[in-house]
Amino acid sequence: MRASERDTRVLRAAREVLAKYQLIRTTVDDEARFAVTGGSRPYSLSLSITWARPPTCTCPDSQHVEVKGYCKHAIAAMLSEPDLRCQLLEAYL
Ligand SMILES: [Zn+2]
Repeated sequence: MRASERDTRVLRAAREVLAKYQLIRTTVDDEARFAVTGGSRPYSLSLSITWARPPTCTCPDSQHVEVKGYCKHAIAAMLSEPDLRCQLLEAYL
């Protein structure tokens, strides 16, 4: 089965983030915060380490209803951080 067009687009974008951007993590309680730089603008991304809520990001894409917080920055952060990786599932369910 092929990934849908949207999924392919998001995964390509996440690959670009991992290759070109910097994600600087700070962890406060159960929240992993990332300063995302290297794109056209800096963004702030927040993920729940305990999977308690969907990610939030200040990028415009993250606000779209169908994205539900799983923007390319959130996907890239989940791919790069072992303790957040399982939450990738959520973006595809
Ligand atoms: Zn984002």
